[in-house]
Amino acid sequence: MKKNRGDMVAVTVLRSGPAGDKRPYYQTFEVKATQDMTVLDALFQILDTQDHSLAFRYSCRSAVCGSCAMFINGWHGLACSTLLSELGREIIVQPLPHMPIIKDLVVDLSLFFERYKVVKPYVAPNKPFPEKEWVQSPNERSKINDSTDCILCAACYSACPSVWTGKNYLGPAALLWAYRFSGDSRDGILRDRVGLIASEDGLWRCHTIFNCTEACPKNLNPARFIQSLKRTTTKETLKVRIPFLR
Ligand code: SF4
Repeated sequence: MKKNRGDMVAVTVLRSGPAGDKRPYYQTFEVKATQDMTVLDALFQILDTQDHSLAFRYSCRSAVCGSCAMFINGWHGLACSTLLSELGREIIVQPLPHMPIIKDLVVDLSLFFERYKVVKPYVAPNKPFPEKEWVQSPNERSKINDSTDCILCAACYSACPSVWTGKNYLGPAALLWAYRFSGDSRDGILRDRVGLIASEDGLWRCHTIFNCTEACPKNLNPARFIQSLKRTTTKETLKVRIPFLR
């Protein structure tokens, strides 16, 4: 692996303005790379010392908020947790592919979050809340492990060919959250949620291509969660159609 410590690194950024503004173009900046510098640090150096107009999104700087997901050297990643030392001397940073661009590295996530909201991404109990905490056993919690680590960065959504071609497809992240709450021992609207996702634009649009799994910077496997949801949905649908299975 090539190390860049203490070296100048060329960071090329795909720049663009709002739709209708001038055409996208690549601009290269020389960045003084220091030890343990991340792509986000490099973008800040450019912003502070070379071009105050560079636009990018960030918040936590700890790989928790998902705001700084980008396409870095041809790979989905979080700018805050991608080290320059892992990338070589020439780095190309682009906004998440297949997403509408607002400016430079900032993409429009409105549709992504609209689709996320469709699956009712919250615990909806069908019994009264207990007076104190609602205890979940380790075994119950283990059924939704991993899926709770999603940071809604939209990398999987941006990488999914079924999203590119299916204009109403919910996408892998929304379905992952459907899995997460359907499997929660405190939730009581499994049948409702199944009704929301068991459609051509829901679960069945996933063709198990696994781009989502490849792209996820948290190493989650949305494709596996979707497959599990397909099994649950099939069982629930059969229970409705064949009453003696209930
Ligand atoms: S599943 Fe992974 S890639 Fe998709 S939104 Fe969640 S953290 Fe991001």
